[in-house]
Amino acid sequence: MTTSKTNGHTLAPIKASSLYFTPLPPTHVVPPGKESHGRYMLTIPWNRVSGWGQPKIGPRQDLSFDPLAGVLQYAVTCFEGMKCYKTDQGDVRLFRPNKNFDRLKRSAARLGLPCEWDNDELLELFAKLMALETPLVPDTDGSNLYIRPTLLETSEGFGIKEDAFAGEALLYVVTTLNLGKGLYPSSEPENKGIKLDACKEFIRAWPGGTGSYKLGANYGTVNISKKPGYAMSLWLHGREDFISEAGAMNVFIVKEAADGYLEFTTMSLNNGIVLPGVTRESIIELLEEHASGKKDFPIDGIPRKIRVVERDISMPEIIAGLEDGSLKGMFGCGTGVVVVQIGEIQYQSKTYHIPSNPIIKILRDTITGIQRGKIDEGKSWSYKVPE
Ligand code: PMP
Repeated sequence: MTTSKTNGHTLAPIKASSLYFTPLPPTHVVPPGKESHGRYMLTIPWNRVSGWGQPKIGPRQDLSFDPLAGVLQYAVTCFEGMKCYKTDQGDVRLFRPNKNFDRLKRSAARLGLPCEWDNDELLELFAKLMALETPLVPDTDGSNLYIRPTLLETSEGFGIKEDAFAGEALLYVVTTLNLGKGLYPSSEPENKGIKLDACKEFIRAWPGGTGSYKLGANYGTVNISKKPGYAMSLWLHGREDFISEAGAMNVFIVKEAADGYLEFTTMSLNNGIVLPGVTRESIIELLEEHASGKKDFPIDGIPRKIRVVERDISMPEIIAGLEDGSLKGMFGCGTGVVVVQIGEIQYQSKTYHIPSNPIIKILRDTITGIQRGKIDEGKSWSYKVPE
């Protein structure tokens, strides 16, 4: 079990066995407009003197903080986005949950929030919350329970602090039922792909900034920059107009290289601009294993003469690839969309049409199949929540 020390004394860890549960009252009424929200929430308070407090699961309710709380004044908050799926057999699954827990720790550390806990203990608490909410999740493709773990500073974040660390914090988890309508209605594979607006006016992330962390502050400004008619912004950076991400997705470009290999290029994580997506990492692993030929888990329909490249790629390079025909497709990936084809990019008042590629649907079906327990990739990526 992970314990941490502050000022020489040991801080209490997150302990699933000390969970306190409050059932919904018999008179519980779902507030209008909140029908898709999970009915319960998990809360775990923290303070720097004693560490993690008692985890509680109880009816979802409003939170209240001091008006000078760090979260309200300086957006000291980070979060994760996860999904819970139901298989044809009725099992409830999470996709690589430890990846999200580790990313939450990394974001928390960047903000001076508590960042030590035992992932297994947190997973056990998740399982309890899932058991209460998942009876509402249909076992149909596209339906799932979206899970939003959030960590924030509840103590005063005002004035100059003695050190960078929060005095008090709260980790909470709420859920939303997603009945297969999808976050992005135009993302269905039979469509031509989503339209992106390559944004030169607003910059999402820059070297040394916080782009590679999942901080609330990175997201509050994005809607204002999205143009009507476009699914999301394609974020650019640098004089060269390098692509970083699109909306809340990592981006892959499929290009035919000079040696005949099909190259899947995605932005490198090295400059700290790009969020290290779980879907991105999973796609890279699957493609590399497929290319190596060692794996007895071929992604049917994708040639083995492929390679994955992690490097910056600019809008002028995309345009050159369209002109010489080497650009064979482009897609975004993330928990929300899984894998979605990018069909059109608006850049400097011109519209660029990106060719569609059947490989994108194969990748989407493969990831979805793994998440819903239909495909066994052999690495236990799909975690079966105990009943
Ligand atoms: N980039 C950003 C900015 C995001 O918010 C997300 C969603 N978490 C992603 C990429 C994709 O990450 P993941 O595959 O872990 O959902």
